[in-house]
Amino acid sequence: MRATVLCFSGLDPSGGAGLQADIEAIGQSGAHAAIACTALTVQNSQQVFGFEATSKELLLAQAHAVVGDLPIKAIKSGMLGTTDNIAALAEFLREHPEYKYVLDPVLVANSGGSLGDQATLVKAFVELIPLADIITPNTVELRALTGLDDLDAATQKLFEMGAKAVLVKGGHEDTPDYIRNALFVNGKLISETRCPRLAGEYHGSGCSLASFIAGRLAQGDSVKVAVHHAETWLFGVLKQAETPVEGGQKIPKRF
Ligand code: PLP
Repeated sequence: MRATVLCFSGLDPSGGAGLQADIEAIGQSGAHAAIACTALTVQNSQQVFGFEATSKELLLAQAHAVVGDLPIKAIKSGMLGTTDNIAALAEFLREHPEYKYVLDPVLVANSGGSLGDQATLVKAFVELIPLADIITPNTVELRALTGLDDLDAATQKLFEMGAKAVLVKGGHEDTPDYIRNALFVNGKLISETRCPRLAGEYHGSGCSLASFIAGRLAQGDSVKVAVHHAETWLFGVLKQAETPVEGGQKIPKRF
């Protein structure tokens, strides 16, 4: 059976982000996706109306049900929703140091809607940071996680907090013509990419990128190679993204 990525992520009814993005991206990476669902959100391509988080007992029960049943090689987390769920994931990861782990530190939806209490989530993420093989913050999340505005200082602070590798995604920076992503390993910049900025807003681009990276890590790629493959793939699926309704964020066409 294909190498499996177990995702801790939430349901987005629009199918743009969350666990559906994970399943589609991981499938495209060549791996199989399994899901421990962290929350049911109520949202569309335009806004988040609310969510109900899974209890930590139910979350861990879902994860434990597939351990030993599927060839899990990597874990990916997206929306976790509550500090209890973050603590449960940390407990699970400590039980399974053999798994690669991609931490996408989701705090808010791209549409701006809340996916949990930001201040408490930020504090709880501190426990997950040293457990991750790679963390994939956008610059808003990077600043929120570290409390620092300067991006270089914030990146170095994440390493002081125990990070091993950090992909800083520049989509929220004021660079009208391009987006710059920078990959740091052990505090050092090891690669950077610039791609033309595509028009519009996208729903689930971060989930897709992190999941594709996890899929490649599960199949044995190094962090650098996994990120390279994921960025190339993501640019293609964003170029062909579909607009559901005027004013809605575009939904990546992942196949
Ligand atoms: N996870 C869930 C369940 C979501 O609903 C969202 C955004 O709406 C995200 C994660 C983050 O999405 P993005 O990849 O757009 O940052």
